[in-house]
Amino acid sequence: MAYEEESRFCPYCGVKLKHPYWQHVQKKHPDKYSQKETWVKLYQDYIGVGMDKETSLKVISELFNATEDEIESFLRNADAL
Ligand SMILES: [Zn+2]
Repeated sequence: MAYEEESRFCPYCGVKLKHPYWQHVQKKHPDKYSQKETWVKLYQDYIGVGMDKETSLKVISELFNATEDEIESFLRNADAL
């Protein structure tokens, strides 16, 4: 089953998320939502559990209402890719 078809859970408090996913993060975890540095940790966590790069970028883009390109270039600049 593709990850896209699975339920999404908040990486910070574990609740099941509804579309659009970023609204939960913005409302409940504004400190995380406002800091791009949190993308690095999240990306490393997702890669660590075996998610591939493209899926990781997609999930992060949905959680933070950012484009995958924006996230990828930030991670590249942070030397995290
Ligand atoms: Zn949460």
